[in-house]
Amino acid sequence: MERFVSIETYEQWRTEARRLLGAGIAPSDVHFSTLDEQPTLFADTESVSKTARANVTVPKSFLEIAQTVACHQSPVRWELLYRTLWRLTHNEPALLQMVTDDDVHELHQMKKAVTRDVHKMKAFVRFRRVASALEETYVAWHRPDHRIVSLAAPFFARRFKAMNWSIFTPIESVVWDQQTLRYGAGVPASEVSDEDSLESLWKTYYASIFNPARVKVAMMKREMPVRHWQTLPEASIIQDLLDDAPQRVADMIERNEGFADTATKFLPPQPDLDSLASAVNCCEACDLHQFATQAVFGEGPRDAKIVLVGEQPGDREDIAGKPFVGPAGELLDRAFAELEIGRDEVYITNVVKHFKFTQRGKRRLHKKPNSREIYACRPWLEAELAAIQPHTLVCLGATPAQALIGRDFRITASRGVVQATEWCQRTIATWHPAAILRMPDAARKEQMFQEFVGDLAKANAQ
Ligand code: SF4
Repeated sequence: MERFVSIETYEQWRTEARRLLGAGIAPSDVHFSTLDEQPTLFADTESVSKTARANVTVPKSFLEIAQTVACHQSPVRWELLYRTLWRLTHNEPALLQMVTDDDVHELHQMKKAVTRDVHKMKAFVRFRRVASALEETYVAWHRPDHRIVSLAAPFFARRFKAMNWSIFTPIESVVWDQQTLRYGAGVPASEVSDEDSLESLWKTYYASIFNPARVKVAMMKREMPVRHWQTLPEASIIQDLLDDAPQRVADMIERNEGFADTATKFLPPQPDLDSLASAVNCCEACDLHQFATQAVFGEGPRDAKIVLVGEQPGDREDIAGKPFVGPAGELLDRAFAELEIGRDEVYITNVVKHFKFTQRGKRRLHKKPNSREIYACRPWLEAELAAIQPHTLVCLGATPAQALIGRDFRITASRGVVQATEWCQRTIATWHPAAILRMPDAARKEQMFQEFVGDLAKANAQ
């Protein structure tokens, strides 16, 4: 007989799923609904024991993916999750590794959609000050595609820790009182305060960071969907800024600002790792190609779970044409050996592909790439990450961390912290092996090496 189970949250699904599993009820015999749906006429809602509970073990990765997929708005998500759970516990323990399986593929598609929605919420929510409030209070209105408020709210609580704020969406809302996040029902837009004192501040800020050299209207519409524009204070000035852009670009080029040149035009039309590796030697997007022996592209399997990103090739790498073959590479290999990670299991690359150096007699001394060179070279790294889509991204040192995590990143403050970035859900920064080698104090050097090994172990954890 078909059983009908009403579910709203991940926690409810988890409880019901354990009970259904404990009672041996197959996925084909159960229909999950949300509260909006009505039970079918002959639905059996009572016959599953309230106490039967399965003690099952499933991969941690399934629980992580289930929590994310539970936030998807698709009405079939609960059934998909239960079917996957059933299969994992009925002779298919390695199911999640079968990426071609229909259920696994659908799970990953839903996870990707939810993750992207969370990213957009973090990017597009703009708070407005409520003038009438006794305490300084801010509100924001947002229209996500999925039920993602609980996934995104901790980010806002960290970022705006010392503010009282509320975020309203049509589906649910959240309030932060500088101590606790409280979740509630959704609110229609008409009930949200439209105090605009924060808007003018935000407009000023937006105009000051707006770089006309990077304007791509189609991309702006894709990244900042037009339906979000009405809630963004800066939207009202975008057209003015766009109208101004050509003149401002010309001015910037004349002043030699704006990083107008990037490697994009040197990328092959349909880039994969092989075509990228051969195209990079033709790149002339910055001056570094004039002095280096050759470009040093990334190396490793295209399905690598871990991608390590360093700063730039060194003297030995420049000659060999391979990343991390010098002393820093030897230290990296020592760390890999401690963790029993094969060098051929990971993909290793750099932010900048040509060696930058200062000539001192016969020696070529490493010189840090500047912002213009990092910006120019970025399309190569972006194409590598897009081709591989790693499970974990490891930034070796401050340069890749600032390029991929954020300009304010400080390795001494945030080394070893796993965080989500637009490139990878698990992004972590650690010491650059060369920084460990340069440390003069032996005890500190050994300590940094152990921290480095610990961070790589964290990156390697599933
Ligand atoms: Fe091109 Fe990067 Fe080499 Fe500059 S460093 S020439 S951007 S590949």
